[in-house]
Amino acid sequence: MKKSFTTEAINLKNYPLNDNDSIVVMFSKTHGLIRAIAKGVKRPKSKLGARVQMFIANKLMLFEGKNLDTIAQAQSINTFSKIRNDLDKLTYSMYISEVVNAFCSKQYNYDENYKEIYDLIFASYDDIANAQKKEEVLLSVLKFQIKIMHYLGWGIDFEYCCSCQKKLSCDIKESTLFSYSANGFLCDECKINNNSNSIKIHNKIRLFLIELEKTPFNQKTRYDDVLNMVVLNKCFLFMKKYIDNLTNKKTKIFEVLEHTMAV
Ligand SMILES: [Zn+2]
Repeated sequence: MKKSFTTEAINLKNYPLNDNDSIVVMFSKTHGLIRAIAKGVKRPKSKLGARVQMFIANKLMLFEGKNLDTIAQAQSINTFSKIRNDLDKLTYSMYISEVVNAFCSKQYNYDENYKEIYDLIFASYDDIANAQKKEEVLLSVLKFQIKIMHYLGWGIDFEYCCSCQKKLSCDIKESTLFSYSANGFLCDECKINNNSNSIKIHNKIRLFLIELEKTPFNQKTRYDDVLNMVVLNKCFLFMKKYIDNLTNKKTKIFEVLEHTMAV
């Protein structure tokens, strides 16, 4: 008999296997990334069909398989339905799915802190679903970017030079150089030999990012009320490039949109 297990998981991706069945990629609280067959979901009356759509969090029973598990039962915990009727919410949620999918495949060692990552994805989708303004959507995605990198062991050190470990200046009139090749910020001395593929980040923004990293996801920072789209977009694109660089690929969802986005 096949071994079964129960878990909670959030759907990240969904694609057809054959005329009746789909493959669902999801992130689970106990097993990390799972690829499972959802049988019969293409039939019009399939109850499972609605539960394997993207972004839905389910309580599941699965049968273990060699390469693919099989979903035996699914009961939705949260459908995050408000994500689906807003293009911005949908786009940024797909970006989150892509990042999780790219990073959490077996090739990366992420210390098996599945629950923290699951809770982070859940909190991000919940925040995005309930956002009233685009600023709020972007802030949720930015928090996700910073925290997921931290959980995966790729968190950026916003306070120290990545080359000599010296504490970086916090003068709010100045900027600090971030090197995409060194994966970190560089102090004035170290940046002389290492300034290719880099970006200047204003210290005010760096201090905001430090605060975001230290603040629990659901808590506000003292900057939240003064944030604007220009700052948020800049931070988002900075983190996006950092993440794309690490995975060696561009997250697809923004390839088309990048040309139209005000950068
Ligand atoms: Zn240095």
